[in-house]
Amino acid sequence: MKMSMNNGQRKEMSCNWLLVGKTHFCEKSARDQYCASHAFKIRKGVIIPQPCKGCGRGTKSRVQLCVQCGQGKERAYIYYKKKNMRGNE
Ligand SMILES: [Zn+2]
Ligand SMILES: [Zn+2]
Repeated sequence: MKMSMNNGQRKEMSCNWLLVGKTHFCEKSARDQYCASHAFKIRKGVIIPQPCKGCGRGTKSRVQLCVQCGQGKERAYIYYKKKNMRGNE
């Protein structure tokens, strides 16, 4: 597959993957939006972390809130549901 380049002037980009629990992004260089390993993860269907609405740290929560900012409530509910389905362990 051929990709168009800007006159051979390739600017090294860094990966756009926000690290979970961190406010910074993956520091690996990327040819595209994401570095090779994260691009691979995305292709495999891994959830891309989103910045927490409360503190900006990366979280994979559907509610876009990290644990400190209230994800716990939702998490506990999911855990409770799972546990209920599996029965006691
Ligand atoms: Zn990366
Ligand atoms: Zn947060």
